[in-house]
Amino acid sequence: MADYSPMMRQYLEMKEKHPNTILFFRLGDFYEMFFNDAKTVSKELEITLTGKDCGQNERAPMCGVPYHSAEGYIAKLVAKGYKVAICEQVEDPKKAKGLVQRDVIRVITPGTILENSMLDENKNNYICSLYFEKMQVGICFADVSTGELQVNQLFAKNKAELEYQIINEMSRYRPSEILFNPQTTDLTGLSDFIRERLDASVECMDFEEYNLSTADIAIQTHFHKTTDELALADKPMILLSLSALITYLKRTQISGTESLQDLHYANQIVMSLDINARRNLELTETMRNKEKRGSLLWVLDKTQTAMGKRLIKTWVEAPLLSPAKITLRQNAVEELYKNMPLLDQIRETLTGVFDLERIMTRIVYGSANGRELRSLAATASKVPALKKIIGNCDSTLLKNLNNQMDSLVDICGLIESAIVEEPPFTIREGGIIKTGYNAELDLVRADMNGGHDLIAGIEANEKAKTGIPKLKIGYNRVFGYYIEVSNSYKNLVPEHYIRKQTISSGERYITQELKDIENRILGAQDRSVKIESELFETVRQTIAGELNRVQATAKAIGVLDVLASFAFISMRYDYTRPVINMSGKLYLKDSRHPVVERLLKDEPFVPNDVNMDMNENRVAIITGPNMAGKSTFMRQVAIITIMAQIGCFVPATVAEIGIIDKIFTRVGASDDLSAGQSTFMIEMSEVADILKNATANSLLIFDEIGRGTSTFDGMSIAKSVLEYVHHKKNVGAKTLFATHYHELTDMESQLSGVKNFNIAVKKRGDDITFLRRIIRGPADDSYGIEVAKLAGVPEKVIKRAKEVLSELENGEMSLSHRSHENRFSDEPVQLTMETADGEVLQKLQSIDVNSLTPIECMNQLFELVSMLK
Ligand code: ATP
Repeated sequence: MADYSPMMRQYLEMKEKHPNTILFFRLGDFYEMFFNDAKTVSKELEITLTGKDCGQNERAPMCGVPYHSAEGYIAKLVAKGYKVAICEQVEDPKKAKGLVQRDVIRVITPGTILENSMLDENKNNYICSLYFEKMQVGICFADVSTGELQVNQLFAKNKAELEYQIINEMSRYRPSEILFNPQTTDLTGLSDFIRERLDASVECMDFEEYNLSTADIAIQTHFHKTTDELALADKPMILLSLSALITYLKRTQISGTESLQDLHYANQIVMSLDINARRNLELTETMRNKEKRGSLLWVLDKTQTAMGKRLIKTWVEAPLLSPAKITLRQNAVEELYKNMPLLDQIRETLTGVFDLERIMTRIVYGSANGRELRSLAATASKVPALKKIIGNCDSTLLKNLNNQMDSLVDICGLIESAIVEEPPFTIREGGIIKTGYNAELDLVRADMNGGHDLIAGIEANEKAKTGIPKLKIGYNRVFGYYIEVSNSYKNLVPEHYIRKQTISSGERYITQELKDIENRILGAQDRSVKIESELFETVRQTIAGELNRVQATAKAIGVLDVLASFAFISMRYDYTRPVINMSGKLYLKDSRHPVVERLLKDEPFVPNDVNMDMNENRVAIITGPNMAGKSTFMRQVAIITIMAQIGCFVPATVAEIGIIDKIFTRVGASDDLSAGQSTFMIEMSEVADILKNATANSLLIFDEIGRGTSTFDGMSIAKSVLEYVHHKKNVGAKTLFATHYHELTDMESQLSGVKNFNIAVKKRGDDITFLRRIIRGPADDSYGIEVAKLAGVPEKVIKRAKEVLSELENGEMSLSHRSHENRFSDEPVQLTMETADGEVLQKLQSIDVNSLTPIECMNQLFELVSMLK
């Protein structure tokens, strides 16, 4: 270290304190990176790698990005999972004696982003902290950018159960960063899940970070409340995970983690949806392209604000279990649904509302600029109008929202009086504070402007005195104010002009008088920027002090936006308010798939009825050809249940939904998961999870089971799974079971809760038409060959398939029989072992064993054996 240059020593000291980060080291107008960081950044961001003398024989590898455009570069690095430490100059370089002091002011990690440009306004960005010990887990999810904080404690009898619960939580929040204690590495199933299914950066914290007494202090200091007051005193797992999170945030943010106050203890009050169900039901993104378009959220989300956009996603991910809470939402939706003018007014007022939650967080962190303050004022100015619009509403939830919303008049007034309407991007330029807001600033500005007037006066004076008509006064950062005279008038320049610079068209001079005024102007300018900064900071801090009021208002606006969106789409798409109760029934009349009906272009969506309960209608076996609509129907039932339990109306003419506690889906092959496991193995482990975790109040969707093994194996597994879920002692859940194993339809006569359904098709000759209607009873046929024909399989293959089918149906050949394998070849058929097999079989079938004597039997046997030789 001793041989390094002083600056490089300073760099290396910083780097030592932040070893797992890329250090952005501020040098003038650039952030520079050195050594391995420089190599990594140059490779990742494709920027040129140079070198810098560092006191050693070899130059230090270096690359840099301009200070003013650093955000874009940082965003890319963070998106790639890197952590970026920002090392700033913490003293004015002009005043520094020797090396400018520098310090790391923030470490930007995937879970601690605050910058607008790096965040998706439609999504929360969660950081997760997890503490695991003896089959217990404390788990916290925090969105630093909005101030939301959810904590939970999970218990289980064994590792697999615990992992299942944690994975479900992770699937719901999808954190971008995860902190955990060293013991968590024992949960190998969880580690695999995080690695394969989550795009998250992970950090194993030191063992010492987890200590109950320091945790207690850290939490009290942060929340200004005792752990008793926070109702966490008896939840040590949460205390440990939460304190690790707070410590980590403090360490990375360095200052201002106060916005994280909105603590919620999440016990089991929402529907359990595992990652497969979320994915298969395409709740927030499509399975194939991971796009919002085509998902349930895409249909439901007609929100106008960023708060609404994030909240509607959160609601879709967490359907409620309490009929009372759902009814609260429904009543509000109904009130808006029935009052179009009211709904229009709300939606219109919400259009001008900015991202209050995130602006407020940046205000608290001290990073919000003048424009963001103006956006806050513009939003705040809408709140009184919103309150007035919902002020006369009857439903409890809308009334509560009105109470939660603070009209924020004082904040709006403060910003409007202090900040200019179109503030500059940064405070450095000045001009952010309105004239009239502060007397001292106004005086300094007058001085500055007076200076400018004086300059104009000098220019006119000098022109007159020297007789140089084209004399003009200019300004640049190097020489300050100067008098410019063109070459043709050089001879008229007075003696006291001091020549400073020659340019192609003339000369530039300064005078003592000019310098004196310049000092006055620049002094005033410096002072005004300084006063402006102080005033701006005071305004920002005053607003930061109102965090709770603003955040509560932002939350209420978000809820109002989502309810308005539900009412709007319910009206537009003709949805109905479902009856919600604990009856265990699932009755839908003329139900539709909310997404498929929006995507169909040429044909109308055919509605279907559903009538399930906890007794004789709990298991529906659905048969019917491929493409008939089995998957659509089953998903539709699950999605409608979710819509109902988030408080939205549903696509049906009548609906009664008994609360569903968990939805499970077993659909198709999850090929992307198949790292190291066969698809059949995955299918079976998904089935195992379902059977272990489903309850009588769950809804199970099985879209084919047992297809990845031999027909008999598969059918046996499918039958046995059906029997198991049907049995009330085991599961007894409402189950939709689509299958091509027609043999399973016999189960209706064997099990009281099983009913057969099929999707009707019309057959005319070789052609079939899908009617899309669900009807009682098993399908009469598979129509696989007809569907293959529809799909364009060559006629020759279709013809041959029909032959094979009729042979199979007549018992003339078994599937394993290969006698006709080269039927498609034009070559003459060779007499092979297989054709001999066929003849032997035919002969065997023609023998009437009962009428043969023993010796005749021997002869026949002899003949058969000789046929095979
Ligand atoms: P497979 O067994 O091959 O998976 P499936 O029986 O599950 O087929 P789906 O995938 O559900 O069939 O449906 C096929 C297509 O039929 C859907 O993409 C949709 O376009 C259309 N469809 C399904 N149900 C309806 C309906 N009720 N009304 C109109 N069109 C429908």
